[in-house]
Amino acid sequence: MKHPRVLKLYNSLSGKKEIFNPIVPGHVGMYVCGPTVYSDVHLGNCRTFTSFDIIYRYLLHLGYKVRYVRNITDVGHLTDDGEDRMAKGAKVAQLEPMEVAQHYSVGFHDMMRIFNNMPPSIEPRATGHIPEQIEMVQDILDRGYAYERNGSVYFNVIKFSQEHPGIYGQLSGRVIDELMSETRDNLKNQEEKSHPADFAIWMKARPQDLMVWKSPWSTGFPGWHLECSAMSTKYLGKTFDIHGGGNDLKFPHHENEVAQSNGACGCSPANYWLHTNMLLLNGKKMSKSDGNTINPPQLFSGDSEHISKAYSPMAIRFFMLQAHYRSTLDITDDGLQAAEKGFKKLMDTYALLQKLPVDAREFDGSETEHDRAILALIEDAYQGMDDDFNTAIALASLSELGGYVNKLTHKQLAQSDVAPWVLERMKSAFNTFLFDIFGLKEEVAKEDGTVENLMELILELRANARAQKDWTSSDKIRDALAGAGIQVKDGKEGVSWEKA
Ligand code: AMP
Ligand code: ZN
Repeated sequence: MKHPRVLKLYNSLSGKKEIFNPIVPGHVGMYVCGPTVYSDVHLGNCRTFTSFDIIYRYLLHLGYKVRYVRNITDVGHLTDDGEDRMAKGAKVAQLEPMEVAQHYSVGFHDMMRIFNNMPPSIEPRATGHIPEQIEMVQDILDRGYAYERNGSVYFNVIKFSQEHPGIYGQLSGRVIDELMSETRDNLKNQEEKSHPADFAIWMKARPQDLMVWKSPWSTGFPGWHLECSAMSTKYLGKTFDIHGGGNDLKFPHHENEVAQSNGACGCSPANYWLHTNMLLLNGKKMSKSDGNTINPPQLFSGDSEHISKAYSPMAIRFFMLQAHYRSTLDITDDGLQAAEKGFKKLMDTYALLQKLPVDAREFDGSETEHDRAILALIEDAYQGMDDDFNTAIALASLSELGGYVNKLTHKQLAQSDVAPWVLERMKSAFNTFLFDIFGLKEEVAKEDGTVENLMELILELRANARAQKDWTSSDKIRDALAGAGIQVKDGKEGVSWEKA
């Protein structure tokens, strides 16, 4: 391992930070609940997937061999009124559900690339794993933790909880007695269940259901929670290292996953449960379901009532890095503007650092106070990441290191104040953190806005010159533009320009 460091993770299951010990030394199995592809991915989803991308990147950086599985939910995730989200999307658009899934999966992947999130090692789809899900339902039935009613199969939460006290409710902190007494009238098929807390693992199809498969119990479809249990087991084993998702999935989705695995094989699915916190917009959870969203394309174009200008993907990624993944993050225009500046400053510092010459001095074993301070800041950045992936701390340490880069650049510190190997170490730490761990990348200034704005300014200067009958200046501007391949046209509608 490159960096044998002690990594601590906050485990939602124990409610504590724990030292990370993978099942197989040097290897990590990580499962993250992916998107339900029935509409465009929103920025809240992007935050969660970006947080796990950084976790993935840091584990890789530490030298672990990681199998990162992130699914695509393309069936079974129902709306509150019991309709499949995919099928609902398909009906609205008059498409095949698979056309809807394909369309939004492509959009999701594009967005992940734009935010520079690495692809997972495996990206299984729920519809591609129906036999595995049917097998798991059978296993749960065989072990007596589920019952069949009219072709649907329900997980028996009451029986499971009585036989395994302390498991159901542990992850989400729900008190089982409250769950037991809860009557969730809004849930469908209540009359078929033995108890309102039970949940469907197989649903018999109704005539209007579009996505259905044959099973030993009925023609129907799997319950939403089941796909993640079946696919994580298939690709990572019955018990694996890390299971992640947004904290809105703790209950019922993840709680039910724990119950299903225990019900099917008597095993607990993951040793560490990691939950990201919600991205807020105007102080409220950003959510596709209730429409309080801002789409990434709106942020990139500035076309939203919530923001005053366009923001680049890396400025937004930087904005996300400034908060720890377990804290909520509220999108505000001011916050984004500050992040944009912060990102630019960090990249400028990086460019200056690259230019600093490393002198040819031999290492004589001595360390200056500046050497020690620089090394301590690099260590702080690592310790931030080791402490439950605290990007906010790591980023702050890097910014502080930037102070040394500026001092060296502007000769407020002499080159001899910093040992060459320390300077090399600082260069490599910047590189590693910025690009490998934080997943930032340099952004080339877009042609659009910049050129447009400059042209507006130049043509305004030319118009002023003409208004003052300063033909020399106005001709000079026109000729200079022509020399740069830009043709200015004076028409009835005003002045326009085009590339020659
Ligand atoms: P969905 O497509 O709604 O199933 O969500 C995909 C992932 O995004 C899940 O891990 C959710 O927990 C997460 N998620 C949904 N809304 C938000 C939000 N506002 N902020 C952060 N993560 C979210
Ligand atoms: Zn899931």
